[in-house]
Amino acid sequence: MTTESAFTTARAQLRKAVDQLGLSENDWQTLSTPRRILEVAVPLRRDNDKVEMYKGYRVQYSTTRGPSKGGVRFHPDIDLEETVALAMLMTWKCALTNLPFGGAKGGIAVDVAQLSERENERLTRRYTSEILPIIGPERDIPAPDVGTDERNMAWMMDTYSVNAGFSVPGVVTGKPIVLGGSLGRTSATGDGVAISTREALRVRGIKPQGATVAIQGFGKVGYWAAVALEEMGLKVVAVSDVKGAVTGFKSIKELWDHFTAHHNLDAPGTDRLTNEELLHLEVDVLIPAALADAITEKTAHGIKAKIIVEGANAPTSPEGDAILNDKGILVVPDILANSGGVIVSYFEWVQDKQNYFWDSHEVKTNLTDIMMKAFSEVEDMAKSQSVTWREAAHMLGVSRVAQAHKLRGLYP
Ligand code: GLU
Repeated sequence: MTTESAFTTARAQLRKAVDQLGLSENDWQTLSTPRRILEVAVPLRRDNDKVEMYKGYRVQYSTTRGPSKGGVRFHPDIDLEETVALAMLMTWKCALTNLPFGGAKGGIAVDVAQLSERENERLTRRYTSEILPIIGPERDIPAPDVGTDERNMAWMMDTYSVNAGFSVPGVVTGKPIVLGGSLGRTSATGDGVAISTREALRVRGIKPQGATVAIQGFGKVGYWAAVALEEMGLKVVAVSDVKGAVTGFKSIKELWDHFTAHHNLDAPGTDRLTNEELLHLEVDVLIPAALADAITEKTAHGIKAKIIVEGANAPTSPEGDAILNDKGILVVPDILANSGGVIVSYFEWVQDKQNYFWDSHEVKTNLTDIMMKAFSEVEDMAKSQSVTWREAAHMLGVSRVAQAHKLRGLYP
């Protein structure tokens, strides 16, 4: 992962959207500047009593359309620039899907695989207490991202609540259901990726039944996308994790059962592929659902998929993107394709505010409605402006934030 490139890419995408929308230099200044950045030192007492210091971040890129919103990433490569880039993407994602949020992102540069559960808990709690002054249900609402899950959200919610003196479930989303989480949040990003895939197949005139998919990543996004796509009748032919890819499994369920029991993808009957071989498979749909910069000028040339649905954030470099466009591949961009997660986070926040919880049918129906609306707006914009889907999605998101800025005016 080249972290500098996620930042450069995000700024380049914004610059393009500002130009395509005919916005002013004042707008560019306003839109290209993150509003609040907090860098914290997070001390951790390891189980062996040794104290280690980690770097933590919380970036509130925008609060123009509402409280800032976005995940917390635990990954050794995370740095400030990448966090800013991801917070910027959250801003356009929330605006594109019309959620009443700005955008944020946070994280700690740490390899969680090296931590025990108790160490992970202490690190999460200390990070939460360091960023506590700037988060809250009306200010900034963290959620899971790469390397974090509902356990981390439970600890964050508890740390915040203990300090407040009462339960504050709305301070984070992606919590366990019993603590005020929403039904459908765990699978939401993958469900949204599957909805995007189905719609992209419709646009390209390919029937979902029997259409083939390769998925890079078998985590929270890739796994649930695979499950939903199989239910829609598609055939998932390959998946990968950090150690490489496999093909030849009978079903996702069987592969998952093996994966959870043995912590590897080598289920009976499977064959190994390299990560690059997975990207270059002859499939209808390729879903990068891991980290940034999976598709670059190095890997893009060999891609044979007709459609790419970006489950990960920023998986395609600008050079990679240009090659995909030249090849006529339809790319459903990250801020649309993976927006299912933050959409159901929004539902969770609404439910926590109202202390009234929805059934899974209501969650699914509302998720589908919001995604379908965003999808058709992007499709229409791409057609009417003769731009790529990525450009259309950014134009829609950026224009909504710019409009909100204009209407609020500049204080003082
Ligand atoms: N981390 C997810 C994303 O990148 C979800 C963020 C959220 O739910 O706030 O979209």
